[in-house]
Amino acid sequence: MTGNGIEGAFDVAGSHAALAFFSTLAPSRLGHGYLFTGPTGVGKKTFARRLAQSLLCETPKRTLLGYCGACPGCTIFVAGTHPDFVSAEGTIKIGKEPGSALHDEDLTARDLVRELSLHGYRGRYRVVLLGDVAFATHEAANALLKFFEEPPSGVVVLLTTSAPGSLLATIRSRFVELAFGPLPAADVERILAAGGASPQKARLAAEVALGSIVRARAFLDEDDAGTRDASYAWFASAVRGETPDVGFLRLDDRSLTGAEKRAAVGELIELVRAAARDWVALSLAGADVPLLAADQKPLYDRLPARDPKALVALLAAVGDAARLATTNVSAGLVVDYLRLQLAPRRGRGSDERC
Ligand SMILES: [Zn+2]
Repeated sequence: MTGNGIEGAFDVAGSHAALAFFSTLAPSRLGHGYLFTGPTGVGKKTFARRLAQSLLCETPKRTLLGYCGACPGCTIFVAGTHPDFVSAEGTIKIGKEPGSALHDEDLTARDLVRELSLHGYRGRYRVVLLGDVAFATHEAANALLKFFEEPPSGVVVLLTTSAPGSLLATIRSRFVELAFGPLPAADVERILAAGGASPQKARLAAEVALGSIVRARAFLDEDDAGTRDASYAWFASAVRGETPDVGFLRLDDRSLTGAEKRAAVGELIELVRAAARDWVALSLAGADVPLLAADQKPLYDRLPARDPKALVALLAAVGDAARLATTNVSAGLVVDYLRLQLAPRRGRGSDERC
């Protein structure tokens, strides 16, 4: 707490650009739409929620950012009952159809139109947060476009996505886009330790988390650690030219949304990118090089050797797959593309020398 009773609660790691932007923005210049982009688990949604609470905090303050945590606005925000805060995650569909995969808590495009047409009940602002946003159809996206034609004053829409390229250009162009970056390992370690992890476990998880707090927590969670191991095993099979099973990604599971599947593939690609970097480093610099996923060294040691030029090309190809994953190309196609890029290219005389 600082002297004026406003919390300095904006040390959301990874949010440097957004923090710099909003901390210098005069309240009178606050726009109607902000899009937070960046990898999964770097604090986009956390930052968006804190920005929302800042706008709905009823304690007077000079800056946009910061909230008191004690006023009626903060109290009902934290309780999840603030009438001027609407939040939803995942794909926005047109309407609830019987038998569809739509859950009751999902926001439909019709709900969205209504929510966006209202002024704040309690105060000056009304905040609509759509996390990992995707639109099932153009009609759903149009709900948002219509809002921008004549936005009610004080209504602010916050979107987060790890795949900005999957959004319609007409939508994207309406928003001020702020990029979130991967977190330094020291930040991940600090956040895990603050959350109750033992110092040893926090350090180990931070080392292999590749800048994502979500990934670090998954590493600490025994149930989720299986996906991480499965991803590294998938990588090892793919570089041997096999067609490894991708069942762990649940791409055929109809209860998952397109955004959830894209997030799963994005996670696979991040881990594959780390594995590829480790493999290249071990191949070029020898066994003592520091690794991104040191616990996977036994797996790396069993990989076939590959020509240095081919290894460098492979790193670039994984980067291409990562870019493809931020577009609206289907998750399954992205995985196939990645597997083909990792496979040895026999007959071109460039890589394999097992
Ligand atoms: Zn407050």
